[in-house]
Amino acid sequence: MPTLPTNGSVLPITRWGEDVMHRVNQPVTDFGDDLHKLVADMVATMNAAEGVGLAANQVGVDLQLFVFDCPDRDGVRHQGVVCNPKLELPEGKDRHLDEGEEGCLSLPGAFTKCARPDYAKVTGVDEHGNPVSYEGNGLLARCLQHETDHTQGMVFGDRLSRKYKKRLFAEAEELAPDYPADWPVSPMLNAESHEDDPVSE
Ligand SMILES: [Zn+2]
Repeated sequence: MPTLPTNGSVLPITRWGEDVMHRVNQPVTDFGDDLHKLVADMVATMNAAEGVGLAANQVGVDLQLFVFDCPDRDGVRHQGVVCNPKLELPEGKDRHLDEGEEGCLSLPGAFTKCARPDYAKVTGVDEHGNPVSYEGNGLLARCLQHETDHTQGMVFGDRLSRKYKKRLFAEAEELAPDYPADWPVSPMLNAESHEDDPVSE
């Protein structure tokens, strides 16, 4: 398992509604120091927000890139950095949907059930341009799909029915005062009421 960098700075998390969240992001082509710093900052931001994954556009950067630190169904922890991700999902009789709860750090505090295949594989390259491949079940499968969606300008609200989407936005609006505009640079308010929240990505 690769070790994620630990020397980054926490950045504010970009919210749904900002353009960069809703368009296909640019492929990563430059694997130099700027990218390494961005990856370290993304890891620091994901950790500060207590998320299991974070895409570059969630810190306002238009690049196809995400980091993750997420358990699978057996509680085994998986970490990685993926640039230019390509998603592979099971088909036919191998395709089973998981109706688990999903939440997004860019719509903080709101959760809803979102059906997705219960297994996923992602291939791409790491921050040095070396090929990587990650696959698994449980929350990891959900995370790999959620983050790859972000790189393509899709948020999980786009996958919900109108009714569920409306409910999700209502919940987010109600909880919005708990999240300062520069969260997680400034901490969440009223944190004790969020202790039992599912994890976000
Ligand atoms: Zn998200």
